[in-house]
Amino acid sequence: MEITCTSEELDLFERISKEAAKLNVECYLIGGFVRDKILGRNTKDADIVCTGDGIALAHAVAATFKHKPQVNFFKTYGTAQFKLNGFDVEFVGARKESYTPSSRNPEVAPGTIEDDQLRRDFTINAMAISLNKHNYGQLVDPFNGVADLEQKIIRTPLGPNVTFSDDPLRMMRAIRFATQLGFEIEGQVFDAIRRNRERIRIITQERITDELNKIMAAKKPSIGLDLLFRAGLLKEFFPQFTDLSGVEIIEGKGHKDNFYHTLQVIDNTAAKSDNLWLRWAALLHDIAKPATKRFEEGHGWTFHGHEVVGERMVPKIFKQLKLPLNEHMKYVAKLVSLHLRPISLTKEDITDSAMRRLLFDAGEDIDDLMILCESDITSKNRLKVKRYLENFELVKQRLREVEESDKIRNWQPPISGDEIMKLFNLSPSREVGVLKTTVREAILDGVIPNNYEAAYELLLNKARELNLNPINSAL
Ligand code: ATP
Repeated sequence: MEITCTSEELDLFERISKEAAKLNVECYLIGGFVRDKILGRNTKDADIVCTGDGIALAHAVAATFKHKPQVNFFKTYGTAQFKLNGFDVEFVGARKESYTPSSRNPEVAPGTIEDDQLRRDFTINAMAISLNKHNYGQLVDPFNGVADLEQKIIRTPLGPNVTFSDDPLRMMRAIRFATQLGFEIEGQVFDAIRRNRERIRIITQERITDELNKIMAAKKPSIGLDLLFRAGLLKEFFPQFTDLSGVEIIEGKGHKDNFYHTLQVIDNTAAKSDNLWLRWAALLHDIAKPATKRFEEGHGWTFHGHEVVGERMVPKIFKQLKLPLNEHMKYVAKLVSLHLRPISLTKEDITDSAMRRLLFDAGEDIDDLMILCESDITSKNRLKVKRYLENFELVKQRLREVEESDKIRNWQPPISGDEIMKLFNLSPSREVGVLKTTVREAILDGVIPNNYEAAYELLLNKARELNLNPINSAL
């Protein structure tokens, strides 16, 4: 097995080898680094396992550098870590683990390298490369991880039932690796995930969401989301999402399966953008369809207002999933609320003012909104998709033209609320809002041009209606 390492990596491994020999401990590269090197993927960290004190080894290795890196260590876990030019190196003593059913925290005792490999989650993550003088560079692969890498298969070193019951987070990890690497999960391993799905409840939501986000960040997130769905895991922690699945038929009319539609929209979005939060907007764009679904006689299925209800569901879902309750959440809620707007502009006779309004409401997120909306055009009928996409191109073109002439994106009306307050000697009040909105709407509707003089004149007229007088009409 040939792997390629950088000269910095080789230099580091030789230092580790020398220091381990001095301390009289065995040591190995293990886990993700070995897996990714064999796959030819980029590596940005390396795990070192030694039969002895990992913290002492980390200090000894760090001390060999002229600019000694700072060693961070956790006595309780026996782990230590330092960084070398952004490359993360972690040290740990080899250990043996035994689990009790109620907790994901095992009893830990020092062990051999074999013990340590046996506690790893998957065969492809359990391979080690020796850094010992007597067999330096030799691959130690007791569970045929290399063969599984070649066959692109996820298997567990122990019986899968034990693996997942011991630490249910591994179910999420199996699906995450399958998604990132494009691997199959072996049949009996997948069955064991299905059987143990309820055990996911002992895992903290933060850890679950961490894995979910890695799935969302993959090239084709639908692989993992579909596996999570079919294993019954998704329903455990995200029932609003699985509620989208299924088709109801009344009077011979069905609607599309909104779960699989959403997966398609996420993949379409992922093909165009790496922005995780845009992908979340894709996941959540139709989240309120079950809540708003109606069958209207003679008409068919409707989901009126699902974008508004969906926008309101976003904060609750972010809280439930322990996603950040910050500007990312606001951005997702905004895109959910606007997701139908661009497509509504594909109709004929759409005025420039409707275009301006969308540019204003979307602001700096207009490009992302257009990606989401375009990704939302899915249908089994290829001709239909083609026609919609062509119409959509026309909308994009017109938006570009309106933006070029009116510069609405990131636009602020020519007279601010502050100025209005000074002009009429008002404190913050309803009147200020009315005056501000009047100016903004008139400009967006194209009733007055986008300049100070026209805005000022309109403002005076409106103020007169409200019995307000400017304190200094020369302003
Ligand atoms: P990535 O860096 O892409 O997340 P990784 O495999 O390096 O992949 P880490 O979470 O850093 O993932 O874990 C490092 C190694 O530790 C894994 O390769 C695996 O051998 C082991 N490991 C991690 N989590 C578990 C777990 N829950 N159960 C058993 N072994 C695990």
